[in-house]
Amino acid sequence: MTPGHQRYWRRGLSLVRLGLILAATTLIILGWTKGLWPQRFMWPQAFGEGVFCVRTEEPIMALTFDDGPDPIYTPAILAILEEYQAKATFFAIGQHLFQYPHIAQTLVAQGHELANHTFSHPDLNRRLRQGILQEVKQTDALLGAMIPRMPPYFRPPYGHANLLVTDALKALGRPILFWDVDLRDWADPSVDHMMAILKRNAHPGAIVLLHDSSPPAAGSASKSRQKTVDVVRQILSTYIPQGYQFVTLSELLDRGETQLAARSCRPRQDRARQDLAA
Ligand SMILES: [Zn+2]
Repeated sequence: MTPGHQRYWRRGLSLVRLGLILAATTLIILGWTKGLWPQRFMWPQAFGEGVFCVRTEEPIMALTFDDGPDPIYTPAILAILEEYQAKATFFAIGQHLFQYPHIAQTLVAQGHELANHTFSHPDLNRRLRQGILQEVKQTDALLGAMIPRMPPYFRPPYGHANLLVTDALKALGRPILFWDVDLRDWADPSVDHMMAILKRNAHPGAIVLLHDSSPPAAGSASKSRQKTVDVVRQILSTYIPQGYQFVTLSELLDRGETQLAARSCRPRQDRARQDLAA
């Protein structure tokens, strides 16, 4: 090989190396800011920064409703919960709390729990520390004025929580509450479809994700949550006769051992099946 060829190859190799470094850096930055890692909950699970369910032998589950309060659907859900003597937890958006404080107060008076789901429902992975803290504190101020003993729980919009988010919440001493059963009501499936998801995933200690309203996105009309209302009735009328009790998150956490990874929440028969296969 002539010296000219050698120079040519060396230059080519360093370009490849530079390309690889650039690609890796881009991936790291994207993963950090947008939560683009293999799965949404990778950061909090890797560092044990969020609760996904509890382990218990008792037949209890927690229904959680995000994005409210809503003037139509929250009262409809509250009426069904009341009818079945069930309790639930509502992760409220500050902007909605500001608009409908009386609905929030009613649900607390009925023994349900109200917790923080930010003020304007942003993707917190795109915010810096100050912006994250501001979203939490603004809603805290509203909640604090409404309820004497505010539960400390926080749920980030879309379940997005990178290290900046988990670190900011830790500094505030606030546990992050995720879920392990997502009925996907946000994608508007049929009630039967949601019940099928629950049947596959229900277990003692499950935290179920539902929505009593929609985020206050600019220009979009509020989505109907009638199917969520309908599925709540189905869930209660199906599982209560089976012996299940529906409780607030505080009660669920009191009665079970918190699980910091979604994989440890899978129904027992699923885990057993996997253990046999392993
Ligand atoms: Zn939300």
